Amino acid sequence: MPHIQKGLACVLFLFVLQALVLAQSPAPAASAPELDHFSLDLVDTSVDPCTNFYQYSCKKWIAANPIPADQPAWGHGSKLALWNQFVLRDVLESASADHPGRSPVNQKIGDYYAACMDESAIDAKGIAPLKPELDRIDSLHNISELAALLAHLHAITFQLAPAGESGSTTAIFGFSSSQDLDDASKVVAGADQGGLGLPDREYYFRDDAKSVEQRKQYEDHIRNTFRLLGESDDDAAAHAQVVLAMETALAKASMDLVKRRDPANLNHKLSAQELRALMPAFSWDDYLKGINAPATLHYLVTSPDFFKAVNQLLATESLDHWKTYLRWNLVHHSAGLLSTPIGDERFDFYGRKLTGQKEQRPRWRRCVQYVDLDLGEALGQAYVERTFGADGKARMLQLVHALEAALQSDIETIDWMTPPTRKQALVKLHAFLEKIGYPDQWRDYSSLNIVRGDALGNAYRSGQFELARQLAKIGKPVDRGEWNMTPPTVNAYYDPQLNSINFPAGILQPPYFDKKVDDAANFGAIGSIIGHEMTHGFDDEGRKFDAAGNLHDWWTEADGKEFDRRAQCIAGEYSGFEAVPGVHVNGELTLGENTADNGGVRIALMALYEVLKEEGKNSSQKSGGFTDAQRFFIAFGQSWCAHLTPELLRLMAQTNPHSPPEFRVNGVVSNMPEFQQAFACKKGQAMVRENACRVW
Ligand SMILES: [Zn+2]
Repeated sequence: MPHIQKGLACVLFLFVLQALVLAQSPAPAASAPELDHFSLDLVDTSVDPCTNFYQYSCKKWIAANPIPADQPAWGHGSKLALWNQFVLRDVLESASADHPGRSPVNQKIGDYYAACMDESAIDAKGIAPLKPELDRIDSLHNISELAALLAHLHAITFQLAPAGESGSTTAIFGFSSSQDLDDASKVVAGADQGGLGLPDREYYFRDDAKSVEQRKQYEDHIRNTFRLLGESDDDAAAHAQVVLAMETALAKASMDLVKRRDPANLNHKLSAQELRALMPAFSWDDYLKGINAPATLHYLVTSPDFFKAVNQLLATESLDHWKTYLRWNLVHHSAGLLSTPIGDERFDFYGRKLTGQKEQRPRWRRCVQYVDLDLGEALGQAYVERTFGADGKARMLQLVHALEAALQSDIETIDWMTPPTRKQALVKLHAFLEKIGYPDQWRDYSSLNIVRGDALGNAYRSGQFELARQLAKIGKPVDRGEWNMTPPTVNAYYDPQLNSINFPAGILQPPYFDKKVDDAANFGAIGSIIGHEMTHGFDDEGRKFDAAGNLHDWWTEADGKEFDRRAQCIAGEYSGFEAVPGVHVNGELTLGENTADNGGVRIALMALYEVLKEEGKNSSQKSGGFTDAQRFFIAFGQSWCAHLTPELLRLMAQTNPHSPPEFRVNGVVSNMPEFQQAFACKKGQAMVRENACRVW
């Protein structure tokens, strides 16, 4: 979604690049996978936990769980996501049976799914569903008409253009509503850089052999796609060059990922007049009228330099070049719901080449994902009914409160913070909004028209619906109850502008959250995740927002410097990790996530000790041959058992704010005296860092 997100900080790495590819379907997986539970049997005692704790916790699991051919990675998160999709498929298959008396919600999710699943009808139509839009682009006679056309294209592709970390990927730029960074109670309009087809700006400029090869493969992919639209070989090749050159110009003007992590770099408020002056060659009035944007106090323009560069391009690039670029952007976003050859071509580049995934996922999984994307809260209701009882919510809240008490005690006792900052930190902690499972108010999709037999049209109308929903918020008080993830999502997040921690029902399943295991295991797995999200409120990005979600510095200068010094230690540690030969983790890009991991595990352990104390239990007593502390750390390690293709590891290291799983485990425990004590590790061993880092 090209919703402008400034620092929505999640726990899991998400890859959306090839999420929207639909084409030929291999045989569907017959049944849902068995979910794993915390297990001491999986510990590999041939590995010294003080040498490589990740291998100690995960080696056996990884050996027993190879990456399936239709995945670029496999771990507990992906297994649970698959399990969730089986639940959702069941819901959708019942909902798609058309009968009198079917509820309006079931009509929408059922017909959306049925249209998406009808591969033979989609194949028979070929590129016909795209034709009216291609004609619309073709009928552009003058560059002055671009704004109105772009408004239409942005609306229909609004949901299909997944927001990468570098911002919107709708054509040229992204536009939506956004909370005011200085006053989180207000919603204003926001414009963000965008328009790229490669995962990030640096992909257009790196000159190592692999990057040069990937750019060539991308150009070939564009050329092949134009051919599939019916162009001659020569035209297709020439057009691919045009697209790559134009995207390179946009990339050159884009702000890089590390710079975007500082919200101050994104906080540029422009009046309507200033917006027009920024890009005089573009008719903002036509554009805003076209998307039906209400009047707003100001426009939050994340990167003014980008828009200045677009203004230049509008003067220098020919009308034909713009048409070629827009055609590419449209088919690129629509490919997943077009015929098999176009979907296969897209998968070949974004799936096979960029992530190392060997085969497409079965069609039903892609269709479940589309329904989740476009009607997520309609589908989510049924998911919650089937999987998440009221007792789950109550137990989770207990855990959250235990972690909050531990974080409070951590803030109260940490030695580098002075009383004025400490006081403000506690105010912020006590203002956390806790959201568990699913929203109190379900989204109303009644005005969205879903038509059986019109797969692409359903996606386009969903984009128009969602953009209108986003823009309708402008000028109104912010809705603090809204969620940015759907209930079946296997993930969690901290939202700095709402100061909220959010745990969708989708992740509250084994092995993260398990009613069958004891406290030590639950605190190690889901407890560390809860602690992670809470710590995001106090990482290098989150700490810049106050209790009300405003970008406002509540730190004394001296405490701010102390924080930065400690954070730099973490950045340095993780920059030392090599993801694939020659590609290191970017310690600055992953700083917030690593800070959250390090703080989160410590807070979860503190909370466990407190609970054991309250229950009068002796924490050095062993169970299954392991102490509570050992089982806590093993559960934490096991929760990250996963392996990724080398291609995905490279992509992740270059674009993702999360470190690869192995470093998320070893990077944390090697900083913790509590871990070293639990496993009797000695100075000089790999899991005992000489200069241990600690922020929280
Ligand atoms: Zn996170």
